[in-house]
Amino acid sequence: MAWMRFRKREMPGNLWTKCPECEKMLFNKELDENCKVCMNCSFHFKIDASERLRYLLDEGSFEEIDAGMIAVDALQFVDDKSPYSEKLAKTREKTGRNEAMVIGLGRLRTRRIAVGTLEFNFMGGSMGVVVGEKVARITELATEQRLPLILMSASGGARMHEGTLSLMQMAKTCAALGRFHAAGCLSISVLTHPTTGGVTASWATMADVVLAEPKSLIGFAGPRVIKNTIRQELPEGFQTSEFLIERGQIDRIVPRPRLVEEIDALFTFLLGPVEEQRPTANEPAVGDIFSGLDLGDLGHVDSEPSEDRSARNEPEVGGHGGTERTVDAERSVPSVSTAEVKTAANPEPLESVEQATPVKNKAKAAG
Ligand SMILES: [Zn+2]
Repeated sequence: MAWMRFRKREMPGNLWTKCPECEKMLFNKELDENCKVCMNCSFHFKIDASERLRYLLDEGSFEEIDAGMIAVDALQFVDDKSPYSEKLAKTREKTGRNEAMVIGLGRLRTRRIAVGTLEFNFMGGSMGVVVGEKVARITELATEQRLPLILMSASGGARMHEGTLSLMQMAKTCAALGRFHAAGCLSISVLTHPTTGGVTASWATMADVVLAEPKSLIGFAGPRVIKNTIRQELPEGFQTSEFLIERGQIDRIVPRPRLVEEIDALFTFLLGPVEEQRPTANEPAVGDIFSGLDLGDLGHVDSEPSEDRSARNEPEVGGHGGTERTVDAERSVPSVSTAEVKTAANPEPLESVEQATPVKNKAKAAG
């Protein structure tokens, strides 16, 4: 039949992907437009670092930093299969990347940001010396230029091949983030499936706002280890995003296709609209980055009816004028040189869209 011949010839195998969750056939172009999330059941496909950055940033805006940095096999480590150095070489060839962390500068809806993301295909996104160094470097650059920082993770934890050197990265990254937060800068962490071990236990959960993709496994030790240690059945959904948000470990669950919009809303709320973003290089780091905050630009996050707002003399959603405000004194931080390094910089969690009403929670009207 002519029709059959047409189908065979015109339908190459790479046009469709079957969803592993609902088994529906998905058109690859549409799947990509939906950030590799099933249009039928919202299953989040695994994506690599390049895709993650492509979905997050304005097209063509990403400039990678320190792409050539490679790990050294300082311990001459050999696991049950092969020397670490060989494994590194093979992984570099397979992934086309030199390490499991990709850092750089880019723009999110025109706002200049610093960003880092783990590459899970590179030894399970494990954190060795280079990953830690790159996290520290992008954090230091963001501090210096007073840029908002987004760190995205997908990791099996510390890299055992580098022994205690990999564990030291936890302290190093946290110290860098401590200085970053002491300088009054804003960081957002995006946890994806899976984020575990020393990555969860250090920089990935040290952000001002911790977001997570739905149904991600997030934890320190794996469920099997915990179960065997405590010799108890674990509750249903243990260590998933949905389980952790109930317990305050993360602030918000954000489906991947909504990530840019949500981060943009957070930035606008916490830093002001893009045109008011401080030009930052070489500027003395005095006062706090949140001063001059325009709370009227929160857009969709504030679901409160406008009558309630006007009763409290607050600006309309999306408006730019409105009452002048100051943020809570505890969020104001002195300059880098005089500030003490704060290690726990997490603010109160943003819960759901309906409950958050950040105008009330985050700031007080002046006078
Ligand atoms: Zn599906």
